[in-house]
Amino acid sequence: MSSIILDGKKLSEKIKSSLKEEITSLKSKSGKQPTLATILVGSNSSSQTYVNMKVKSCESIGMTSKKIELPENTTTEELLSVIDSLNNDKSVNGILLQHPSPKAIDERLAFDRILPEKDVDGVTTLSFGKLSMGEKTFYPCTPYGIMLLMEEYNIPLSGKNAVVVGRSAILGKPMAMLLLDKNATVTICHSQTKNLPDLVHSADIIVGAVGKPELIKGEWIKKGAVVIDAGYNAGNVGDIELSVASLRSSYHTPVPGGVGPMTISVLLKQTVDSFKAGL
Ligand code: NAP
Repeated sequence: MSSIILDGKKLSEKIKSSLKEEITSLKSKSGKQPTLATILVGSNSSSQTYVNMKVKSCESIGMTSKKIELPENTTTEELLSVIDSLNNDKSVNGILLQHPSPKAIDERLAFDRILPEKDVDGVTTLSFGKLSMGEKTFYPCTPYGIMLLMEEYNIPLSGKNAVVVGRSAILGKPMAMLLLDKNATVTICHSQTKNLPDLVHSADIIVGAVGKPELIKGEWIKKGAVVIDAGYNAGNVGDIELSVASLRSSYHTPVPGGVGPMTISVLLKQTVDSFKAGL
């Protein structure tokens, strides 16, 4: 049996089209529209591309975007003051600080300065704490997008062995918490993990969240496993050797067109949720 593609592009289009309709109706009722502010510090070309994609997606569904670009030598204090002004701006419903910031910036301090009600990218310590406690909050967009994608394809999670490779604050750790919340039995792997191939082989659901091209070999994948590749490396290559993994898996996300588009649509969805909460 061939592996079913988890089509993130298709689901993302469906979410965006329903958001577009909702925004039209919200605008006619309130005379206002949701606004997402994006902050990019420095000139990292991948980050510029990601921010531009987010701004374009905002505009494509009738949302306003406010794009702030700051120079590479911006200090943490200067960045905090920009965040403060966006926090105080009533027309702004969501704030996205593009990761990674230049090394000289205290990025954690900056993330945590974002008001929880405007944290539509789910990056604050408070949002992570609430997520970990199973409380309602904004979620980090990539792991939440992965959850929505698995839900769309009715993939059962309860009692399944899930292995997440990577433990970053924006991806690996919240991914593990969201899977745990759906009663999966979760193992988190990282750079010091021993026996990665065996752990991956034990997984019913495997999530690659590392940032190293095809680190996870196709032959490690158990037959029938669900393969989620969140990695995005140069040359459109993920963290999982998908050419082989997709011959063994039951479902898999393609790269590109799997996890990436879901990240953006979740960001838009959470911005609309923030707007509605403020009406
Ligand atoms: P990150 O902060 O660099 O974290 C990478 C994680 O991988 C770390 O926890 C690290 O372990 C672990 N790791 C490194 N080498 C390893 C190895 N040999 N074996 C096992 N684990 C290893 O990266 P990130 O921000 O989470 O991003 C990960 C990937 O996801 C990247 O390709 C990124 O482009 C992609 N991503 C995609 C989207 C999207 O929208 N599609 C969004 C976010 C990220 P330690 O903690 O021990 O160092």
